[in-house]
Amino acid sequence: MKKKWITLIGTGLTIASLSFASPSQTTSNPPTPTPVLAAQKTDTALSKAKKAVRTLENEQTHEALGVAKDRLKDVKSSKERKKLKKRIDKVHELIEQKDLATQLIKNLEDAVQTLKGDETRSNLDAANAKLKIATDRIAELQKEIDSSKTNIEKKEQAQKAIQEAEAAVKALEADHSSAKLDDANKKVSAITDTSKKAELQKRVDAVKADVEKKKTEEATAAVANLEANQSRDNISDAQNKVNALTDESQKAALSTRITAVSNAISAHEAQEAAAQAAAQAAATAQQDQDTTTVYITATGSRYHFDPHCRGLNRSNSTTPTTLSDAIAKGFTRCKFE
Ligand SMILES: [Zn+2]
Repeated sequence: MKKKWITLIGTGLTIASLSFASPSQTTSNPPTPTPVLAAQKTDTALSKAKKAVRTLENEQTHEALGVAKDRLKDVKSSKERKKLKKRIDKVHELIEQKDLATQLIKNLEDAVQTLKGDETRSNLDAANAKLKIATDRIAELQKEIDSSKTNIEKKEQAQKAIQEAEAAVKALEADHSSAKLDDANKKVSAITDTSKKAELQKRVDAVKADVEKKKTEEATAAVANLEANQSRDNISDAQNKVNALTDESQKAALSTRITAVSNAISAHEAQEAAAQAAAQAAATAQQDQDTTTVYITATGSRYHFDPHCRGLNRSNSTTPTTLSDAIAKGFTRCKFE
């Protein structure tokens, strides 16, 4: 039989001895193992110790603690022993805490029973002292529960952020709109798990690259169409599509081609305007010729604007006609006029 004494530091309260049965030593190692079996034996000792520690972690009893400690002694590797000892110590601490709690309540109940049996001031003070110890411990436990609650809520929030980001990325993959892209970016950046974040960001970037590729194709096609069909309407369509690109060098290259077409259109328009002005001038001149009266004679070869021109003085008969008629008949302009 082992005896265990737990002292509450600071309170001076000594908890009654806790007794528990020593772990039963059911398995015994074979005497002097052959060298061939040495390695196998070491493995067995380690696996037995591991099993005992697992049992201890599940049951958290003094008996399991004793077994685990005994098995640990047989483990040859100091590294493995250290690892297992750490796990045993952790459970050991938990068991002590539980013992302490049980004892705190028991002490309190005993003190209350004593008080009931003998209602004196000193028994009342003693019961209150025990009650304070128990309530202080409860307050500590409450803090631990609250801390765990905060951690759980943080984990749940992180999980929720991941789920929302996954849904947003999925929606973006189905619909490459800028609204969906903004939403996905926002939700992915809210994720705290770095590997998950990187994974989803990669998917967002893939969509972005695809959108950019399509935009480039559209802009290139619009510029090619403009070059084939040079009109002002096609310029604005091409320019809008080129402006939507983010790659500055592509943007510059396509803009240069648009400018070239724009200049060609301007030059062509100027040429047409000049031709139109010339045609207009010719038409006006023709009209003038049709309405301007000149004077010709049956024998002369000149036409005269002035009916009293000295070039007409010797002629008997002058005939008025239009300038265009005179030109058509081969008359040329009078040299005096
Ligand atoms: Zn004349």
